[in-house]
Amino acid sequence: MASLDLPAQLNVEADRGANAFRTAYPEHRPLVPRLQHNRAQLHIGGRTINGKYHREIRLAKSEGPLRAYIMRKYSWTVAQMELIDWQALTQALNRKQDKEVALVKLLAELTPTAKITKRYGRSNSSQCPRCQTDEETIDHVIRCPAVACQQWRSALLTHLRLICTTALHSRLALVDVLLDGLSCWFQHEQLDCTKYPDSLHKLIKDQNSIGWNQLFRGRMVREWASLQQQSLWDNGFQQKSLSGRSWVATVVTTIWTRFFELWNARNTIVHGVDINDHTAIQKSRLLEEIKDLHSRRESFHRSDLPFLIAQTDDETQKLKRS
Ligand SMILES: [Zn+2]
Repeated sequence: MASLDLPAQLNVEADRGANAFRTAYPEHRPLVPRLQHNRAQLHIGGRTINGKYHREIRLAKSEGPLRAYIMRKYSWTVAQMELIDWQALTQALNRKQDKEVALVKLLAELTPTAKITKRYGRSNSSQCPRCQTDEETIDHVIRCPAVACQQWRSALLTHLRLICTTALHSRLALVDVLLDGLSCWFQHEQLDCTKYPDSLHKLIKDQNSIGWNQLFRGRMVREWASLQQQSLWDNGFQQKSLSGRSWVATVVTTIWTRFFELWNARNTIVHGVDINDHTAIQKSRLLEEIKDLHSRRESFHRSDLPFLIAQTDDETQKLKRS
């Protein structure tokens, strides 16, 4: 340090003093004291903004409309919105920046399932490409009765248990509730809190209230982080890297990673693995559309008939060759 000039030495000294103060008085201080040379300071919602001004202003402007949109979408009350651990969701999103676009779609219920692509005219049917029985929504993708999806669900639960019990120092009762709640939702049932200790009732009721399908949208209730944090304190874990909130974020990112594996497998069925598959699938889809047009030739105007490839039903084999 002696090799530094005086202002730099004072700077280092001041940083050290500031860190010592923060360690001794760790409470949250959202307002930064204004120094004399500071000509302007930005405050939003009672806190000082110290950087990334564009992003912060954009977020502050869009937060209200986004909250209103989410409440409308799921018919949630303000009280239900407050149950959700938004900070854990933000932490999970920050860890998954490589999947930003897909996650924004997932959170806004705009993942291009058959229901959505049918609405935009990009597919003919809204049915699930795997089981061909139900409308394909995100919830259906996850709960589809097809064998491959059943295997995926059981692998997800096994994987979650493994992650929670090996790396996260989880409170084991929380892991049980997590896996039981998901299993119940997979079977179109709701978790009954009376089978669990009283200390877990609020957690189960809160998550039941906003829905277990919300775990796939990263929306877990705040009670998870709070109970896990308590367990960490009780067991003497004081590392900064371990917290109730980061536990929730890890559960969410684990679920997302597995979900996108399922989604990619689904896309392979719909779009094919490589360009040859893709072309073949598109051709067969177009052939079905052309056949459908031809089956309705009786209703066409006479001047449109020359555009048909096969003029009569007997000539339908021409369609395949063309
Ligand atoms: Zn299905």
